[in-house]
Amino acid sequence: MKALVWHGKQDIRYETMPDPEIEDGRDAIIKVTSCAICGSDLHLFHNLMPGMKPGDIVGHETMGEVVEVGKNNKALKPGDRIVVPFTIWCGECDQCRRGNYSVCERSNRNAKVAELVFGHATAGLFGYTHLTGGYSGGQAEYLRVPMADTTHIKVPDHFTDEQALFLSDILPTGWQAAVYCDIEPDDTVAIWGAGPVGQMAIRSAVLLGARQVIAIDFLPERLSMAAAAGAVTINPAEESVKDRLNELTHNKGPDKCIDAVGMESHSQILPEHLYDRTKQSLMMETDRPHTLREAMLMVRPGGVLSVPGVYGGVVDKLPFGAAMNKGVTIRTGQTHVNRWTDELIELIDEGVLDPSFVITHTEPLAKGPEMYPTFESRKDNCIKVVLKPGQ
Ligand code: NAD
Ligand code: ZN
Ligand code: ZN
Repeated sequence: MKALVWHGKQDIRYETMPDPEIEDGRDAIIKVTSCAICGSDLHLFHNLMPGMKPGDIVGHETMGEVVEVGKNNKALKPGDRIVVPFTIWCGECDQCRRGNYSVCERSNRNAKVAELVFGHATAGLFGYTHLTGGYSGGQAEYLRVPMADTTHIKVPDHFTDEQALFLSDILPTGWQAAVYCDIEPDDTVAIWGAGPVGQMAIRSAVLLGARQVIAIDFLPERLSMAAAAGAVTINPAEESVKDRLNELTHNKGPDKCIDAVGMESHSQILPEHLYDRTKQSLMMETDRPHTLREAMLMVRPGGVLSVPGVYGGVVDKLPFGAAMNKGVTIRTGQTHVNRWTDELIELIDEGVLDPSFVITHTEPLAKGPEMYPTFESRKDNCIKVVLKPGQ
């Protein structure tokens, strides 16, 4: 089969790879009909995540048709149309029983190594470093889905791929970020980052009844998309985020803040004790403000800081005293994708939410190697890329 394969920093290739095979009774193999590039893939593209190996197939936003199932998989059959959640979950461990699927205790087969390197492990993730299990990704013609009897989302027949695909990641990620804010009718919610995750968070905050939603980003086309959803916009290149947020909140600060940027800003991926050994500067020097710091300082006392943005290792110089003394609630994590599926399918079905608005580019899978730099550089006003295998 053909797939997008990681070979190093800014080196993604379209190559022939072996077809995946059933390895376990719970598995399923799907023929991919649509997949997308995520902001998290850019962390791999920039080689910020330790644990990638040349030859790894990337991609974790994928859907398609089931073509084969393992002998113990009673939940799926060939012909079923499914979206694949990016977090692999077993459904049986203590965390899965609590609905904490992104910290499933069994799906990351390399959890022990991850604990040695990071001091912690996540669930198994598709196409996302050997420290999250090293599972082949879904930017490919076929994908093996481990634990597929739980790790799937059945798609209503009348949904298009474009309506359903983002149930895999960015839609539940934006939704979870907003739900974690416990939005009340009088709330102002400020969202840093109007990328795909930020866009979903903005719409979610509006749907969950926030009185005022504020979107902060440097990119005018992303701010226009946010404004179309009813958000007030701030471009830090043009005005002071602090002054404008104070003006919009009568100097109280936003009740709820969402960091949908992550480590594009200032962070260090490895824990301090491994930092020297790598002899590699992983500090990203930037003249941009540190999103997390800015949000921590701006959030109103008693407010919530919700962080869907991905961080790894050490993030230093955070004004934690401000968060502590203001009594801020901080909520974060990889998304427990399947926790939100039913309510999101209902919203899409009722026509309240159509996540396909975010797509700016649809291309054959073969064009993937060109689309990574396009998405990275935000060229051609690129916000979200969908790739189609077999075209
Ligand atoms: P993206 O890179 O397309 O969007 C990031 C946006 O942040 C860009 O529009 C950029 O211009 C903006 N930005 C950068 N610095 C900023 C600053 N200082 N202030 C305001 N805006 C700034 O990525 P995305 O796909 O939208 O993903 C966003 C983040 O969410 C990434 O860190 C990604 O890894 C993470 N993510 C997390 C989960 C999860 O499970 N928690 C799932 C998916 C994605
Ligand atoms: Zn993602
Ligand atoms: Zn589990």
